[in-house]
Amino acid sequence: MAIEGQQQPLHMLFFPFLVPGHLIPAADMAALFAARGVKCTILTTPVNAAVIRSAVDRANEASRGADGALAIDIAVVPFPDVGLPPGVESGPALNSDADREKFFQALQLLREPFDRFLAENRTDAVVSDSFFDWSADAAAEHGVPRLGFLGTSLFARACSNSTARHNPVEAAPEDPDAPVLLPGLPHRVEMRRSQMMEPKKRPDRWALLQRMNAADQRSYGELFNSFRELEPDYLEHYTTTLGRRAWLVGPVAFASKDVATRGADDEGLSPDADGCLRWLDTKPAGSVAYVSFGTLSRFSPPELRELARGLDQSGKNFVWVVGGGADDAEESEWMPDGFAELLARGERGLIIRGWAPQMLILNHAAVGGFVTHCGWNSTLEAVGAGVPMVTWPRYADQFYNEKLVVELLKVGVGVGSTDYASKLEARRVIGGDVVAEAIERVMGDGEEAQAIRERARVLGEKARRAVEKGGSSYDDVGRLMDELMARRGLVNV
Ligand code: UDP
Repeated sequence: MAIEGQQQPLHMLFFPFLVPGHLIPAADMAALFAARGVKCTILTTPVNAAVIRSAVDRANEASRGADGALAIDIAVVPFPDVGLPPGVESGPALNSDADREKFFQALQLLREPFDRFLAENRTDAVVSDSFFDWSADAAAEHGVPRLGFLGTSLFARACSNSTARHNPVEAAPEDPDAPVLLPGLPHRVEMRRSQMMEPKKRPDRWALLQRMNAADQRSYGELFNSFRELEPDYLEHYTTTLGRRAWLVGPVAFASKDVATRGADDEGLSPDADGCLRWLDTKPAGSVAYVSFGTLSRFSPPELRELARGLDQSGKNFVWVVGGGADDAEESEWMPDGFAELLARGERGLIIRGWAPQMLILNHAAVGGFVTHCGWNSTLEAVGAGVPMVTWPRYADQFYNEKLVVELLKVGVGVGSTDYASKLEARRVIGGDVVAEAIERVMGDGEEAQAIRERARVLGEKARRAVEKGGSSYDDVGRLMDELMARRGLVNV
């Protein structure tokens, strides 16, 4: 729908949480709105701007306005001075509870530049990270509709909503293995107590989750990096049962650019990563397990040792991303006997240190399975690439995403991760033989593995169709733009 007399394009402000896993999809979302003619601004701090700079440059190349104006602008604001060392502005750089506290203080102080931006710029909508719960009131004061974005699945959001409302952990027996049933969901969703956040142990985090949920609920609506065909029951639940408004615009990593080139020009791509792509070219289709746990997970030396043993025992080829700031233990602390030699031969496996071009790897024909922590971006990137998963959740929404992948979508097998624990806490070690078995169940020749791979392939086709012209996510973007444009007409009357 076009509103007569409205020449100015829509302007959307994106305000992502300061971790790569929220910045990356925010930049991808900005790119897909920009490709549809929306002027986008991403408000963030210097170190975080660097994470998305090359993605934004690529998107601007693709969708520069007719007048030559950049479609996406990054509004860089200083990171508030809360006593963190210079350059420590982002989740992966936080290595103590004290630093984490300061980081959360800094997030509150971003209200001042956020307010200033809205006061000084005409903005049709704010896509605010759910973590900035205060932005609901700030946006309302400026009369700007706020769209919450948490960067997770509808399924996980519905689970955490159920948890926030009913607090089923509190009512469960103290036993870590006690089953916890999440009430009011379309399926029977049962977790182990140890897989859930303990509200009593983390009262601050629990209070924040309640505030975030309330802020998103009173917002104009919510954006999801998901697609209608992936989790239709949870879309229905979210919108009809919970009465919330949701637009599903993903998988955003596949939406707005040529996947084949994505990541290839990322600054800071390590030499390991470059060699990895050439190495993959030499491997048969579906023969390589890709192993990566995102930007925030940390594995202890015993966990790394068992994982290495599992990869060795699996007999499969592998590319393993160690590090990304997370696993900084010396190799001698964890490498099992013979593993260094196995790597040195270069036939079976590679280790990447630093930033891996994950989209390129997942979409390479040689990759046949993804050992993942179930961060939502990684999960959806695997779904879009049609790659089945070996799931190894650690904390946050990851245990819920695992349930979606393993039990509902049936495109993965779990390693049996049981302990919700942040990167600073200890957890039970999973044996290498268990890891090898899970890889076999996904990548092997058995019937189960073949069925999993076929479902993953079909789901990947649906995912990529969703973001093409006429697909469900493409249409949701259009619907939201129409609504915002119509609203502008009404507000101006
Ligand atoms: N990523 C990447 N290369 C790396 C590590 C991560 O490209 O070496 C990207 C990955 O593709 C995904 C994001 O970083 O888009 C990580 O987000 P996710 O939600 O999977 O995990 P988190 O880091 O938030 O736990």
